[in-house]
Amino acid sequence: MIKTAQDIKSYKKQLKEALSDQFLRTALDNFNCAYRENRSAVYEGIDFEGIKKEIAAEKDAALPRLMELFEAFKTHAEAAGVKVHAAKDAKQANEIVASIAKENNVKKIIKSKSMTAEETFLNDHLENKGYFVTETDLGEWIIQLRKEGPSHMVMPAIHLSRYQVGDLFETVTRKQQDSKNIDKLVKVARKELRPVYLEADMGISGANFAIAESGALGLVTNEGNMRLVTTLPRVHVALVGYDKLIPDLKTMLRILKVLPRNATGQAITSYVTWIKGTVECGSSITNRKEMHIVFLDNGRLALAKDPVFSEALRCIRCGACANVCPVYSKVGGHKYGHVYIGAIGLILTLFYHGKENDRAIVRNCINCQACKEICPVDIDLPHLIKKTYRAVLDQDGKTPAKNVLLSKVLKNRKLFHFILRNAYLAQKPLAKKKAMIRHLPHFFEKEHGFRSLPLIAKTPFRDQWETMRPQVVQPKYTIALFAGCAADFIYPEQSSALIKVLQKYDVQVEFPMDQTCCGLPVLMAAEEETAKEVALQNLKAVMSEKYDYILTLCASCGSHLKHNYPKIFKDASLTPENLKAFSDKIIDFSSFVVNVLKASSKDFNVTVEKVAYHSPCHLCRGMQVTNEPRKLIEIAGYQYVPSKDEDVCCGFGGSYSVDFPEISAEILKKKLDDVQAADARILVSDCPGCVLQLGGGMDKRGGEIQVKHITELLAETKI
Ligand code: SF4
Ligand code: SF4
Repeated sequence: MIKTAQDIKSYKKQLKEALSDQFLRTALDNFNCAYRENRSAVYEGIDFEGIKKEIAAEKDAALPRLMELFEAFKTHAEAAGVKVHAAKDAKQANEIVASIAKENNVKKIIKSKSMTAEETFLNDHLENKGYFVTETDLGEWIIQLRKEGPSHMVMPAIHLSRYQVGDLFETVTRKQQDSKNIDKLVKVARKELRPVYLEADMGISGANFAIAESGALGLVTNEGNMRLVTTLPRVHVALVGYDKLIPDLKTMLRILKVLPRNATGQAITSYVTWIKGTVECGSSITNRKEMHIVFLDNGRLALAKDPVFSEALRCIRCGACANVCPVYSKVGGHKYGHVYIGAIGLILTLFYHGKENDRAIVRNCINCQACKEICPVDIDLPHLIKKTYRAVLDQDGKTPAKNVLLSKVLKNRKLFHFILRNAYLAQKPLAKKKAMIRHLPHFFEKEHGFRSLPLIAKTPFRDQWETMRPQVVQPKYTIALFAGCAADFIYPEQSSALIKVLQKYDVQVEFPMDQTCCGLPVLMAAEEETAKEVALQNLKAVMSEKYDYILTLCASCGSHLKHNYPKIFKDASLTPENLKAFSDKIIDFSSFVVNVLKASSKDFNVTVEKVAYHSPCHLCRGMQVTNEPRKLIEIAGYQYVPSKDEDVCCGFGGSYSVDFPEISAEILKKKLDDVQAADARILVSDCPGCVLQLGGGMDKRGGEIQVKHITELLAETKI
């Protein structure tokens, strides 16, 4: 049923098919917008950042104690008449459930939604044994009828339109259905499912919480089906991962504060149900319900001890990491996970369903950090995705040729820069004397021709440096400019503009000549050792003790230098001496001008130009800089014009846009549509990568909006 591509070639083929589904994209885009609005409304007055740190700490404290919590849970649950089982893997869990069914002479089974049962492929196992299994959650029932897996962890049938559901229901009921009317379709499901509940011998559920101090299960749902599943049949089996164990009610209430808010933008779901112990049951000949809880390990207990990946077990399955993911919103869940969907799916697939199913999908992350920001349990998902990719490569024992080449070049700064200088000559035939490369050779044009490409500069910034180095007699600040490859070799004008802007502020700018690529591209390719080597070169080149600040023009470089460098060396036996000082001194251009230099509108001419802003992922989420660039646009005399979803990724992602050009193009298309809908003549950003993507896309579509780096914008009005 679930056909996850096992290699990148077939995965790209599947992605193409997904991208051709216009309905899917529109539905997910619409959902994404509505979700973001509802979510921010229900979080009003709640300290999300504070609460997520608290939950993360509580979950982390529980992980080393999982067996202890299990024993406590078991004692309390058994005292209340429940039989508690432990399954080491999916096979054993399925066998336990099937044997409970057999012992209790079960024929018909009803189920409420359970991702853990999806993980073990429980339905397949039970059906193969001859049991008649019916899913009762509306979305799950729909995908069961279609013989599909879920495409979202909370909304399993989000990929389907009402018309597709209407057609399906016509086939099931052999009656014409009113597909336009969702209420009527829901009533069809209710009518079809009601008798199934009454006939069922056994109900299977999952659980959101297993509370050790009481032996109670907690279930959070929006449809009444779960209560019917757990109460009507004479046997109830709950299949629960060990990761759902929490010590007490207090922890659970804290999680409950974020789970519905993050999952569906609701303050609370329609039903929050507690089940503790067996109860009277009219459909049982003993007049007492038979209740079993099966705890599933399937790698969780080992994962809980893993110093890097244990963080993934904090997950409370809210599904939000898919809701905000720009890639998910373009290709949907069937192509963005195996059983578990979204960012967390790219990680858990390796541990629960093996490297084969993760090998291709794990590469499809643009590193926009949106999942990390929204995760209510503070999982550093993009970081773990890269770690997972590394683990897949290690298990496969193969290094892709692209990685070998990239590592070789980036380790050697002189070779790298030699290649960039020579690229200037190589591109000439393609540029055809134009300012941008508008057409690529036929073979590339189809996939990669969605944007024009900028030219490599004839003279990189580093070669112009000596002629423009400022000589400030009594500098207020001495800063090192970390330009990044793009503002050095492609857009030296962005760096020159910076020099112009800073010249009246008594800032001595230096350009350490031995600086090289920040190393993010190799980290994206999971080449951790090369990333470390490149980082060491930069730490040596930019001797932080000489500077008050290290200023970056590239949000991706800035975020990588500031936050990833410490992570890269976290496990190293020897941490470079100047690492902390280096990272602490990293600052972006806008924050430096607004917060440090305290620039005022008196420093700039006023213009009537209207300017839209694109907030780079690695600035707003990576470096948590949001207000300063917008403020700076206005300080510099322009009129800032808000546009829709300014902080949503532009689709660049460095090498991502080369590896997955069609997804990159789709993300870019929406971004440019939103920008063009705003009444602005200039679009500004503070990352050369975003400028490349947005400027190239705008040029290709013949748009009239000029795309600039914020340094260039300021240089134009600077007095
Ligand atoms: S970093 Fe961005 S692209 Fe990657 S999984 Fe998270 S949300 Fe999706
Ligand atoms: S990883 Fe975080 S955002 Fe994603 S489903 Fe789990 S808890 Fe939710």
